[in-house]
Amino acid sequence: MKELENISLPDELLDEIQHNIEHIIQTFDVPEENKMEVIKQINFMYSRTKYLSLTDALTRLPNRRHFDSTLDKEFSRAKRYKNKLTLAIFDIDYFKKINDTYGHQCGDFVLKEISNAALLTFRKSDAVFRFGGEEFAVLLTETEIKQSIIPLERFRKTIETLDLTYEHKKVNVTVSIGACQLTDDITSEQEFIDRADVQLYEAKKAGRNKTFLSKIS
Ligand code: GH3
Ligand code: MG
Ligand code: MG
Repeated sequence: MKELENISLPDELLDEIQHNIEHIIQTFDVPEENKMEVIKQINFMYSRTKYLSLTDALTRLPNRRHFDSTLDKEFSRAKRYKNKLTLAIFDIDYFKKINDTYGHQCGDFVLKEISNAALLTFRKSDAVFRFGGEEFAVLLTETEIKQSIIPLERFRKTIETLDLTYEHKKVNVTVSIGACQLTDDITSEQEFIDRADVQLYEAKKAGRNKTFLSKIS
Protein backbone atom coordinates (compact mmCIF):
# COMPACT_ATOMS: atom_id res chain seq x y z
CA MET A 1 0.00 0.00 0.00
CA LYS A 2 3.10 2.23 0.09
CA GLU A 3 2.54 3.85 -3.31
CA LEU A 4 -0.95 4.95 -2.30
CA GLU A 5 0.00 6.56 0.98
CA ASN A 6 -0.16 10.16 -0.25
CA ILE A 7 -3.40 9.78 -2.13
CA SER A 8 -6.64 10.45 -0.31
CA LEU A 9 -9.28 7.77 -1.05
CA PRO A 10 -12.02 5.97 0.86
CA ASP A 11 -10.55 2.99 2.72
CA GLU A 12 -12.71 0.35 1.10
CA LEU A 13 -11.36 1.22 -2.36
CA LEU A 14 -7.69 0.95 -1.52
CA ASP A 15 -7.36 -2.84 -1.71
CA GLU A 16 -9.22 -3.08 -4.98
CA ILE A 17 -7.22 -0.28 -6.58
CA GLN A 18 -3.92 -1.59 -5.27
CA HIS A 19 -4.65 -4.99 -6.76
CA ASN A 20 -5.51 -3.50 -10.16
CA ILE A 21 -2.49 -1.20 -10.20
CA GLU A 22 -0.10 -4.03 -9.40
CA HIS A 23 -1.61 -6.04 -12.18
CA ILE A 24 -1.21 -3.21 -14.71
CA ILE A 25 2.33 -2.35 -13.64
CA GLN A 26 3.41 -5.99 -13.97
CA THR A 27 1.60 -6.62 -17.22
CA PHE A 28 3.03 -3.55 -18.95
CA ASP A 29 6.40 -3.61 -17.23
CA VAL A 30 6.23 0.10 -16.27
CA PRO A 31 9.71 1.58 -15.55
CA GLU A 32 10.36 2.64 -11.96
CA GLU A 33 10.51 6.38 -12.77
CA ASN A 34 7.02 6.34 -14.34
CA LYS A 35 5.34 4.23 -11.68
CA MET A 36 4.10 7.11 -9.51
CA GLU A 37 2.53 8.94 -12.45
CA VAL A 38 0.79 5.76 -13.66
CA ILE A 39 -0.54 5.14 -10.16
CA LYS A 40 -1.89 8.69 -9.93
CA GLN A 41 -3.59 8.50 -13.33
CA ILE A 42 -5.25 5.15 -12.65
CA ASN A 43 -6.26 6.31 -9.24
CA PHE A 44 -7.90 9.45 -10.60
CA MET A 45 -9.83 7.60 -13.30
CA TYR A 46 -10.88 4.91 -10.89
CA SER A 47 -12.16 7.38 -8.28
CA ARG A 48 -14.03 9.41 -10.86
CA THR A 49 -15.74 6.35 -12.37
CA LYS A 50 -16.59 5.00 -8.96
CA TYR A 51 -18.03 8.36 -7.92
CA LEU A 52 -20.20 8.54 -11.04
CA SER A 53 -21.47 4.99 -10.60
CA LEU A 54 -22.59 5.73 -7.04
CA THR A 55 -24.07 9.19 -7.58
CA ASP A 56 -27.45 10.27 -8.89
CA ALA A 57 -26.84 12.66 -11.79
CA LEU A 58 -29.80 14.96 -11.11
CA THR A 59 -29.59 15.51 -7.37
CA ARG A 60 -25.92 14.58 -6.80
CA LEU A 61 -27.04 12.45 -3.90
CA PRO A 62 -25.68 8.93 -3.46
CA ASN A 63 -27.86 6.64 -5.59
CA ARG A 64 -29.68 3.35 -5.02
CA ARG A 65 -26.56 1.30 -5.66
CA HIS A 66 -24.71 3.29 -3.03
CA PHE A 67 -27.64 2.85 -0.67
CA ASP A 68 -27.62 -0.93 -1.13
CA SER A 69 -23.93 -1.27 -0.32
CA THR A 70 -24.14 1.16 2.63
CA LEU A 71 -27.18 -0.62 4.04
CA ASP A 72 -25.39 -3.93 3.64
CA LYS A 73 -22.49 -2.65 5.76
CA GLU A 74 -24.56 -0.83 8.38
CA PHE A 75 -27.02 -3.70 8.73
CA SER A 76 -24.25 -6.22 9.43
CA ARG A 77 -22.47 -3.84 11.78
CA ALA A 78 -25.63 -3.04 13.72
CA LYS A 79 -26.48 -6.75 14.05
CA ARG A 80 -22.99 -7.76 15.14
CA TYR A 81 -22.37 -4.97 17.65
CA LYS A 82 -25.99 -4.41 18.63
CA ASN A 83 -25.81 -0.82 17.40
CA LYS A 84 -28.95 1.18 16.97
CA LEU A 85 -29.97 1.79 13.39
CA THR A 86 -33.03 3.54 11.97
CA LEU A 87 -34.05 3.63 8.34
CA ALA A 88 -36.38 6.35 7.08
CA ILE A 89 -37.92 6.54 3.62
CA PHE A 90 -39.56 9.72 2.43
CA ASP A 91 -41.61 10.33 -0.67
CA ILE A 92 -42.76 13.61 -2.21
CA ASP A 93 -46.53 14.04 -1.94
CA TYR A 94 -48.56 14.38 -5.13
CA PHE A 95 -45.40 14.78 -7.15
CA LYS A 96 -47.13 13.73 -10.34
CA LYS A 97 -49.35 16.78 -9.95
CA ILE A 98 -46.30 19.07 -9.70
CA ASN A 99 -45.01 17.64 -12.99
CA ASP A 100 -48.43 17.89 -14.60
CA THR A 101 -49.09 21.44 -13.40
CA TYR A 102 -45.69 23.11 -13.80
CA GLY A 103 -43.82 20.73 -16.12
CA HIS A 104 -41.15 18.08 -15.76
CA GLN A 105 -38.36 20.68 -15.47
CA CYS A 106 -40.06 22.10 -12.42
CA GLY A 107 -40.33 18.56 -11.04
CA ASP A 108 -36.58 18.19 -11.49
CA PHE A 109 -36.03 21.54 -9.77
CA VAL A 110 -38.14 20.40 -6.80
CA LEU A 111 -36.17 17.13 -6.57
CA LYS A 112 -32.92 19.10 -6.39
CA GLU A 113 -34.23 21.56 -3.80
CA ILE A 114 -35.55 18.78 -1.57
CA SER A 115 -32.23 16.95 -1.86
CA ASN A 116 -30.35 20.06 -0.79
CA ALA A 117 -32.70 20.58 2.15
CA ALA A 118 -32.17 16.96 3.21
CA LEU A 119 -28.40 17.36 3.08
CA LEU A 120 -28.63 20.44 5.29
CA THR A 121 -31.03 18.84 7.77
CA PHE A 122 -29.46 15.47 8.44
CA ARG A 123 -26.21 14.92 10.28
CA LYS A 124 -24.03 13.34 7.65
CA SER A 125 -24.40 14.12 3.98
CA ASP A 126 -23.80 10.53 2.90
CA ALA A 127 -26.71 9.29 5.03
CA VAL A 128 -29.25 10.60 2.50
CA PHE A 129 -29.81 8.67 -0.73
CA ARG A 130 -32.03 9.00 -3.77
CA PHE A 131 -33.82 5.69 -3.52
CA GLY A 132 -35.67 6.00 -6.83
CA GLY A 133 -37.98 8.47 -8.63
CA GLU A 134 -39.27 10.83 -5.94
CA GLU A 135 -38.35 8.57 -3.05
CA PHE A 136 -35.38 9.02 -0.75
CA ALA A 137 -33.81 6.99 2.04
CA VAL A 138 -32.08 8.22 5.18
CA LEU A 139 -29.93 5.92 7.28
CA LEU A 140 -29.69 7.19 10.84
CA THR A 141 -26.85 5.40 12.55
CA GLU A 142 -26.62 5.20 16.35
CA THR A 143 -30.22 6.38 16.45
CA GLU A 144 -33.25 4.84 18.11
CA ILE A 145 -36.65 5.32 16.55
CA LYS A 146 -37.76 7.65 19.33
CA GLN A 147 -34.72 9.87 18.74
CA SER A 148 -35.27 9.87 14.98
CA ILE A 149 -38.52 11.80 15.33
CA ILE A 150 -36.58 15.02 15.99
CA PRO A 151 -34.57 15.24 12.73
CA LEU A 152 -37.36 13.63 10.69
CA GLU A 153 -40.00 16.08 11.88
CA ARG A 154 -37.56 18.97 11.50
CA PHE A 155 -37.05 17.89 7.90
CA ARG A 156 -40.77 17.43 7.20
CA LYS A 157 -41.49 20.93 8.51
CA THR A 158 -38.56 22.41 6.58
CA ILE A 159 -40.06 21.06 3.35
CA GLU A 160 -43.56 22.21 4.28
CA THR A 161 -42.31 25.77 4.74
CA LEU A 162 -39.82 25.76 1.87
CA ASP A 163 -40.18 28.93 -0.17
CA LEU A 164 -39.90 27.48 -3.68
CA THR A 165 -40.40 29.63 -6.76
CA TYR A 166 -40.14 28.24 -10.26
CA GLU A 167 -40.43 30.67 -13.16
CA HIS A 168 -42.20 33.23 -10.92
CA LYS A 169 -44.67 30.65 -9.64
CA LYS A 170 -44.76 29.55 -6.03
CA VAL A 171 -44.60 25.77 -5.67
CA ASN A 172 -45.85 24.17 -2.47
CA VAL A 173 -44.48 20.77 -1.67
CA THR A 174 -44.68 18.31 1.20
CA VAL A 175 -43.21 14.91 1.99
CA SER A 176 -44.48 11.82 3.80
CA ILE A 177 -42.01 9.91 5.93
CA GLY A 178 -41.94 6.32 7.20
CA ALA A 179 -39.27 5.05 9.59
CA CYS A 180 -38.33 1.82 11.27
CA GLN A 181 -35.68 0.79 13.80
CA LEU A 182 -33.68 -2.37 13.25
CA THR A 183 -34.90 -4.95 15.76
CA ASP A 184 -33.96 -8.61 16.43
CA ASP A 185 -36.93 -9.94 14.50
CA ILE A 186 -35.79 -8.21 11.29
CA THR A 187 -33.55 -10.74 9.57
CA SER A 188 -32.84 -9.23 6.16
CA GLU A 189 -32.17 -5.85 4.62
CA GLN A 190 -35.22 -6.20 2.39
CA GLU A 191 -37.39 -6.81 5.45
CA PHE A 192 -35.95 -3.66 7.01
CA ILE A 193 -36.81 -1.63 3.91
CA ASP A 194 -40.29 -3.17 3.74
CA ARG A 195 -40.99 -2.23 7.36
CA ALA A 196 -40.05 1.41 6.72
CA ASP A 197 -42.19 1.27 3.59
CA VAL A 198 -45.21 0.08 5.57
CA GLN A 199 -44.89 3.20 7.74
CA LEU A 200 -44.57 5.40 4.67
CA TYR A 201 -47.73 3.85 3.30
CA GLU A 202 -49.50 4.57 6.61
CA ALA A 203 -48.32 8.20 6.49
CA LYS A 204 -49.77 8.52 2.97
CA LYS A 205 -53.01 6.88 4.03
CA ALA A 206 -53.33 9.24 7.00
CA GLY A 207 -53.42 12.22 4.64
CA ARG A 208 -49.73 12.83 3.70
CA ASN A 209 -47.28 15.43 5.07
CA LYS A 210 -46.82 13.16 8.11
CA THR A 211 -44.10 11.13 9.81
CA PHE A 212 -44.96 7.58 10.88
CA LEU A 213 -42.65 5.45 13.00
CA SER A 214 -42.73 1.72 13.62
CA LYS A 215 -43.60 0.64 17.15
CA ILE A 216 -41.00 -1.08 19.29
CA SER A 217 -42.52 -3.89 21.35
P1 GH3 B 1 -48.15 10.18 -3.67
O1 GH3 B 1 -48.50 11.36 -2.82
O2 GH3 B 1 -49.06 9.03 -3.44
O3 GH3 B 1 -46.70 9.79 -3.55
O4 GH3 B 1 -48.41 10.64 -5.18
P2 GH3 B 1 -47.33 10.96 -6.29
O5 GH3 B 1 -48.02 11.74 -7.38
O6 GH3 B 1 -46.13 11.61 -5.69
O7 GH3 B 1 -46.90 9.52 -6.75
P3 GH3 B 1 -46.90 8.82 -8.16
O8 GH3 B 1 -46.15 7.52 -7.94
O9 GH3 B 1 -48.28 8.75 -8.74
O10 GH3 B 1 -46.05 9.76 -9.10
C1 GH3 B 1 -44.67 9.89 -8.99
C2 GH3 B 1 -44.19 10.76 -10.13
O11 GH3 B 1 -42.80 11.06 -10.01
C3 GH3 B 1 -44.38 10.12 -11.48
C4 GH3 B 1 -43.02 10.30 -12.15
O12 GH3 B 1 -43.17 10.77 -13.45
C5 GH3 B 1 -42.33 11.34 -11.30
N1 GH3 B 1 -40.88 11.25 -11.36
C6 GH3 B 1 -40.08 10.21 -11.02
N2 GH3 B 1 -38.77 10.51 -11.22
C7 GH3 B 1 -38.74 11.80 -11.70
C8 GH3 B 1 -37.67 12.68 -12.10
O13 GH3 B 1 -36.48 12.36 -12.06
N3 GH3 B 1 -38.04 13.93 -12.51
C9 GH3 B 1 -39.34 14.34 -12.57
N4 GH3 B 1 -39.62 15.57 -12.96
N5 GH3 B 1 -40.36 13.53 -12.22
C10 GH3 B 1 -40.07 12.27 -11.79
MG1 MG C 1 -43.37 7.30 -4.89
MG1 MG D 1 -44.97 10.61 -4.24
